[in-house]
Amino acid sequence: MNTPTILTGLRVNSELTLGNFLGALVPMVRLANAHSETFHINIFVPDLHSIISDIDGELQTNIIKSLKYYLAAGLKINDNIHFYRQSYVPAHTELSWMLNCIATMGELNRMTQYKDKSAGKESVNVGIFDYPVLMAADILLYDAKYIPVGEDQFQHLELTRRLAERFNRKFGETFTLPATPKEQITFMSGGSDQDGIRIRDLQNPERKMSKSNPAPNSKIMLDDEPTTAAKKIMSATTDSLGKISFDMFNQPGISNLLQIEALVNDLPLQDVVSTWSGETHYGDLKQKVAASVSTMLADFQRKFATISDQEIFDLLETGETYANEVANKKLLSVQQAFKLR
Ligand code: ATP
Ligand code: MG
Repeated sequence: MNTPTILTGLRVNSELTLGNFLGALVPMVRLANAHSETFHINIFVPDLHSIISDIDGELQTNIIKSLKYYLAAGLKINDNIHFYRQSYVPAHTELSWMLNCIATMGELNRMTQYKDKSAGKESVNVGIFDYPVLMAADILLYDAKYIPVGEDQFQHLELTRRLAERFNRKFGETFTLPATPKEQITFMSGGSDQDGIRIRDLQNPERKMSKSNPAPNSKIMLDDEPTTAAKKIMSATTDSLGKISFDMFNQPGISNLLQIEALVNDLPLQDVVSTWSGETHYGDLKQKVAASVSTMLADFQRKFATISDQEIFDLLETGETYANEVANKKLLSVQQAFKLR
């Protein structure tokens, strides 16, 4: 039996926030640890996706750092975990070109991400238009079944399925279709109540926390000093109702703090909510959450510091050997379909 694949990649154009950590990194590490006996877990750095927009800091530093983050967040390494950099597996760009030849301008034009990212701009690079096709190649090269992505990427996942179907119809069974977005959600949630969480902006809790928000107090970064992070929590916007309850609509700031408290301590949200419901001193809750976040960050940063660059390079070496082997095999069958080989 073929071992199925779960595939994930995080763009490393800048430092990550607590939102990225709690909403993407930690759930991915959980998923990997739960399934790495029965699935290949491909954790790749989409460096070719990074260059379609500006990069904060040094790309090489960001790459190594991001892979250390998986380990610091508790990823257990075994033979089924594969770390690789997209640009070190040339089949990604080659397949992407071939998929370009079956994708249409019309379907790429309909991508909401493209519309959002190009809105109001005088000039937009072709990469921003075409990256969903590269993303399809990232997935199809490995016959990946599950790709834990946010809702904003579902349209790209549907595009991937459509391209694979079109190719298979024209040339015969070549690609495995990834699971539908609905099946992905069912698989990823695995019955947990922490699915689809959105950590809110600390200053403006109606919005989600985003790394691209320039306001430093709106977000906690993974490399913030724990004391700085605590101060940001203490200055978080709340409300004037004067009574704690979990109500994202009327009390988004307070609800966000309860949510963070639960996730950081790995407690069911219900438990945290029942501990604090009805309390009137917002300052007490802030102090507790500030302590939880700074302890968690200090612990995470301590673990991060123990991981050497060499450890990551070693993982990349074996991972890239594996990835090239699998990807080149798939690429050859596509080249043969097009009569290029
Ligand atoms: P940007 O402002 O550049 O869009 P971002 O912080 O929204 O950055 P993304 O790169 O868009 O981050 O997303 C990376 C991952 O983090 C995705 O899986 C996304 O769902 C998740 N994520 C982003 N923001 C949050 C948040 N506030 N809470 C939980 N998860 C989040
Ligand atoms: Mg985003």
